[in-house]
This record gives sequence, C-alpha cells and structure tokens, in this order.
Amino acid sequence: MKVLRFYAPKDVRIEEVPEPECGPDEVKLRVRNCSTCGTDVKIVNNGHQNITPPRIMGHEVAGEVVEVGADVSGWSVGDRAQVIAAVPCGECYECRRGWMAVCQNQTSVGYQYEGGFAEYLIVPRQVLKVDGLNRIPDNIGFDEASVAEPFACAINAQELISVADGDTVVVFGAGPIGCIHIRLARANGASRVFLIDVNAERLKMSADAVRPDEVINGAEVDVVERVLELTDGRGADVVITATAANVAQEQAIRMAARRGRISFFGGCPRPTPTSSATPTWSTTGS
Ligand SMILES: [Zn+2]
Ligand SMILES: [Zn+2]
Repeated sequence: MKVLRFYAPKDVRIEEVPEPECGPDEVKLRVRNCSTCGTDVKIVNNGHQNITPPRIMGHEVAGEVVEVGADVSGWSVGDRAQVIAAVPCGECYECRRGWMAVCQNQTSVGYQYEGGFAEYLIVPRQVLKVDGLNRIPDNIGFDEASVAEPFACAINAQELISVADGDTVVVFGAGPIGCIHIRLARANGASRVFLIDVNAERLKMSADAVRPDEVINGAEVDVVERVLELTDGRGADVVITATAANVAQEQAIRMAARRGRISFFGGCPRPTPTSSATPTWSTTGS
C-alpha cells in the first residue's frame, strides 16, 4: 500500500509498504479521509520529539472497518469510524481524574503509532482500551469526521476560557481552525466576533464562509489599536490565537480587557518558542 513517511525534517517520502496485519486486539481500517493540520507542517519542517522515524504521518483519520481482531467486541466490518489523535493512558492520576487531555503518558497516532496517510491503518490497542474509536453518524461524511480532532480541541479551548453570552471575541488566524473558533464562539453566545490575519486573500475567503462582525488586516492596521477602538478602549473579553505567530500572542495580551481570557491555541514556532508582552492597562494596589 502507499504511505507518506516521515524520515527527518524536510525528508518526507511517499513509499510502497506491505499492508499492515490486524492483531487479535486491534481493528483494521481502510482510510477514507486523513486531514492535514498545522502540526503536520511543523513536523515536516522541524520534526517532533515524540516521533521515532521512519513513521507514517497523519493523525486526523476517518475510515471504514475492514477487519476486527478476535478479541475485540463492538465493531463489525463496514462500520464507519473516527480515530482519536492523542491517546491517553487511562491509568495515570490525570486520566483517573477525567483529565485525559493532559495525560502524562500521552501517545499519538502518527507519532508512536503508524498514522493515517496510508491506505490502511491498524487502530492501536491503546486507542480501543480508552474507547477512542468513535462511530461516525450516518449524516456525517468521512471528511467531516476526520476533523473531529481539531474541532474537539477548539471546543476544549473555548470551555477552558469560558466563552459566554455577551463576550467580544477576537480570533487570530483566518485558517480552518480560526473559522471553527469563530463559529463556535457564536454558538457559545459571543455578541461580537472579530477575525484578524495578515493575508488579505485568506481573510476574505474565511470571512465569506464564517461571517465575523469585523475583519482586521494586520498588514494594514495596528490590530491592538483597532480592537481597542472597536471596544471603546476596553479591549476584548476573549482572544484566541489560532496561528503559530509569536506576535499574535503579544498582541493578544495587549488587546485583552480587564478580566479578559486568552487562549494561546496555536503553539509558537519551534525556532522562536517565546513571546513577551504586558497588557495595555495596569492594576494598582496588590
Ligand atoms: Zn492535528
Ligand atoms: Zn494517563
């Protein structure tokens, strides 16, 4: 079968490899959709500390069950399924508290396990153990199901920063994740949502799709000033940086309102992983 394999930064190859075999405690999927995400780009450019090469990449996977191991119950050939990307251990302190997203022994599809840029994928036993193979409802396509992973990340982020009724929400980054955040913020009751990017074409394409209340082009205006202007000098209640740009994190801090919440959703780029800034307002007293 054909696969996309990571060997080293800037060395990713399309190769022919034998079709994987399904063990008694595993499930074999025919991959119907595997989406690319910003993390894939980072892996191609910089590698990743948890990847042992050569490794088949791809962690946003949806497919069709073609084989079920003898010891696995609940799945049948023909079932449509989505695979979790980050795999918790199910046993550590965090997992037992129900905080599986911050499991200390987390492994990932496409990192420690072979990924979904392949014709077939073996769902690891660790995924089945933590109930991480999800049935796809009939009204959801394989393409939509494969982005359940980034969508879930966005839902988690907005829960953590409590996006709620009446909030003014700023989203940095007019990519697919930024678009998800805009729609989600609205669903969570945000009264106004602003979208920021530095690429006019990308801004327009995304704005046409998700209709933010305000589109701010950071290549043309000072985004902090503009957000303060749009909020009568108060700043944004919520800022989400859905881009791997340090400057967005700094601007986020400077444009956040008192009691504002910020989600540094997209990590900083590997070569320059730090950012620093102080809010535009200051507190007095202690
Ligand atoms: Zn991803
Ligand atoms: Zn754990």
